[in-house]
Amino acid sequence: MTQSYVIIGDGVAGSSAAETLREEQPDAEITVITDEGEALYNRILIKEFAKGKLPEAPISIHDESWYDERDIDLQLNTLVVDIDVDGHTVETHEGGEYAWDKLLIATGGTPTQLPVDNSDADGIHHFWTFQDARAIRESADEADTGIVVGAGLLGIDLAAICGAQDVEASSQFCQESAA
Ligand SMILES: Cc1cc2nc3c(=O)[nH]c(=O)nc-3n(C[C@H](O)[C@H](O)[C@H](O)COP(=O)(O)OP(=O)(O)OC[C@H]3O[C@@H](n4cnc5c(N)ncnc54)[C@H](O)[C@@H]3O)c2cc1C
Repeated sequence: MTQSYVIIGDGVAGSSAAETLREEQPDAEITVITDEGEALYNRILIKEFAKGKLPEAPISIHDESWYDERDIDLQLNTLVVDIDVDGHTVETHEGGEYAWDKLLIATGGTPTQLPVDNSDADGIHHFWTFQDARAIRESADEADTGIVVGAGLLGIDLAAICGAQDVEASSQFCQESAA
């Protein structure tokens, strides 16, 4: 019997899983669902894009034809909002439903939203997606000064982006947690 697989997430984990499944099961129905508007890209390189050092093209890993060629159904701009474990379906933000025999949740990590009012106001960015990198690059192009909240790996990357874009930036972090 044909197995149907639904994979939530088209990061490197979800996309690689879809590729492996196709190699091992030529007849399986494979659906990859992502809330992002583009197919797999190199997330690690988006910082170079935001610095203004790379154009968009080299960051892309797969275009949509890669999925077509492998008969993988790629659903872009589609957020999974619910999983019915008993009924073996996932529900999307627009009310769509996908049935699965096997489900892989490959949703990666999500940056912590700053827990203060207006943390989603214009000019405030989180940093995880290519779309975030485009918005950061655009803001940095226009800005003279900036503040980076958090001094982990991505905070340091953001500080480097500010430096590369001639934005005078200061980094804010909690001394206690940094000790
Ligand atoms: C700027 C930057 C630099 C980095 N540098 C390094 C580095 O140097 N070395 C390193 O090892 N790692 C680095 N990382 C981390 C690395 O990119 C991640 O560990 C890796 O992308 C994880 O892959 P993943 O497939 O598990 O998840 P992700 O790449 O996060 O992919 C998950 C996907 O699932 C989607 N998704 C989530 N929830 C839903 C939902 N409900 N419905 C539909 N889709 C959903 C997300 O939008 C995303 O597209 C960096 C990350 C960033 C942002």
